[in-house]
Amino acid sequence: MRTNNNQDHDVPKDHPRYESLKYRHDIIEGMKKLVVAEAGLIAHGRGECFDYMLGERTSDIAKEAIEAAVALLYLAKHPIISINGNTAALCPEALTELSKILDAPLEINLFYRKEGRIEAIKKVLEDAGAERILGLDESKMVEIEELSSNRRNVDPDGIKIADVVFVPLEDGDRTEALKKIGKEVIAVDLNPISRTSLWADITIVDNVIRTVPEMIRIAEKLKNAKNKDLKNIIDKFDNIKNIQASLDVIIQYIQKQKEDAFNILKQ
Ligand code: ATP
Ligand code: MG
Repeated sequence: MRTNNNQDHDVPKDHPRYESLKYRHDIIEGMKKLVVAEAGLIAHGRGECFDYMLGERTSDIAKEAIEAAVALLYLAKHPIISINGNTAALCPEALTELSKILDAPLEINLFYRKEGRIEAIKKVLEDAGAERILGLDESKMVEIEELSSNRRNVDPDGIKIADVVFVPLEDGDRTEALKKIGKEVIAVDLNPISRTSLWADITIVDNVIRTVPEMIRIAEKLKNAKNKDLKNIIDKFDNIKNIQASLDVIIQYIQKQKEDAFNILKQ
């Protein structure tokens, strides 16, 4: 991998921050291709910070939320996966595969609109094998009342009619608006106390890079599950408790780091 932080250099695979630097590189390349907005870089940095505090792994707590999320998406009449620039740059193949398994179309739904961005994201998704992409024709988009300015447009065949919306990475205002128009919302957010996390019905506190492949795995596992069993998974899930448990994961990890860090320094 080559990073491009103004000093091109190769990052060896055994570098302790290889994974993190690789995804940083994908985000920067995404920005150059118009896929990622400038503010997307900052959002990614905020996410990295929380991922650090989660130990950069998918917790068992997050896995419980992932299972509930997949069950809810299977039970939905009109499930939809909302795509923004960062998710398109980070995991287009996995999102495309998930969309196919769940029979949930991908809708490009952007916070920061810019000439050429929708086309750039469309290309990334098509290159990843996506066949059903919504949110392309701006002239056909309809407005959702709860939001101001250009952030309120949604596809009439997508989010508008969806009952369950999967928003890997979303802004709090939009999550709140989706809730207010009656959608069930599943969010992936590394920050367990962002407004998105608190507004969502199911909050997966994890990195979208790890979450989506895990969702694919669970979707394969639940492929032939009966509706009764899917409902049972959802009934057993408590989002507030799950968020609190995610905060405990952070607290415990930091506590351990506090001890380990001093040990490392002493050596
Ligand atoms: P909110 O608007 O929900 O209150 P915010 O304003 O603090 O959140 P935004 O800048 O709107 O944050 O969105 C960035 C959010 O996305 C942050 O909470 C960040 O932790 C999260 N995030 C960034 N990258 C990832 C990622 N790869 N996986 C999961 N979450 C991520
Ligand atoms: Mg925000």
